[in-house]
Amino acid sequence: MVDAYGRKITYLRLSVTELCNLRCRYCMPGDGLCKKRHEDMLTREEMLSAVKAAAELGITKLRITGGEPLVKGDVLAICRGAAQTEGIEEVCITTNGTLLPELAKPLREAGVSRVNISLDTLNAEKYAYITRRGSLDQALRGIDAALNAGFDRVKINTVLIGGFNDGEIPALAELTRKYPVDLRFIELMPMVDSREFGPEAFIPCSVVREKLPELAAEPQDNGVARLYRLPGAQGRIGLISPVSSHFCGTCNRIRLTADGKIKPCLHSAQEFPIKGLDYRGVLEQMRAAILAKPACHGELSARRHSCAGRSMNQIGG
Ligand code: SAM
Ligand code: SF4
Repeated sequence: MVDAYGRKITYLRLSVTELCNLRCRYCMPGDGLCKKRHEDMLTREEMLSAVKAAAELGITKLRITGGEPLVKGDVLAICRGAAQTEGIEEVCITTNGTLLPELAKPLREAGVSRVNISLDTLNAEKYAYITRRGSLDQALRGIDAALNAGFDRVKINTVLIGGFNDGEIPALAELTRKYPVDLRFIELMPMVDSREFGPEAFIPCSVVREKLPELAAEPQDNGVARLYRLPGAQGRIGLISPVSSHFCGTCNRIRLTADGKIKPCLHSAQEFPIKGLDYRGVLEQMRAAILAKPACHGELSARRHSCAGRSMNQIGG
């Protein structure tokens, strides 16, 4: 389906849970969130019915996200059901990777074709700090498991944080020489939970190009990253700049939260509830959400926070 500004909407990000086994400082509060009532969250059947409605409206790509999708007990059944939905050509997942040692192969067998793994540092102490509780070793074992499970592509997502990991840009980029992975640097977005970060933390992706002058431009695909490659590297480097230069003009996505709200735009509080609706009702809400997609989100900066109205773990990134 085409939205009011001529953008073809082909991509749904489905958050299957708000819960997470980590507490990244830019994403959610340190003491977690009040757990919502089970009956207020979408059931697996409702999620798969929404995926079917999305496919009917022209969505072909689905990304399973969260919270941490791999803490959800029936994540494999959701992935399998989504991959079998007529019209869905690709099911991808975004994860912190810590549970991939057990789940990478079953996810592949359930029909997931691509995996994005979040990793902000290669230093064990810094990893424990930024995630407030995670183990770097476990995340690295997760990347290893993903590389051995036969996915079409494995990507690593790194949130760029000035004063925290900008000194590690060359070391992180080296991963693309060592392994067949793409690494994407993502600008830190000013969400409610990124308030502990001062203005110096919000650095633009152009810093990566300054630190890696040998990067050569690569042909662009239809994603949001500008693509480059280090000489001789197996994988590419992607730069995603939602703050310094937004990509709203080509935005092709909508989001569905675990509590059943369709979000036309990540940085807008406008939501279309679907919990408890029948299939026709879901289809109508999805159509309305696509038509309500704004031309662009407002300016974002260290001083101008996102109007999303939710923590990132309640949206799915
Ligand atoms: N738990 C999974 C993970 O960490 O990959 C999936 C959910 S997480 C909300 C999805 C993505 O959003 C992650 O790559 C994470 O780094 C990113 N993210 C969360 N908060 C962010 C922020 N304030 N700015 C930029 N990216 C953020
Ligand atoms: Fe959890 Fe992912 Fe948010 Fe980190 S970024 S707290 S792993 S949902």
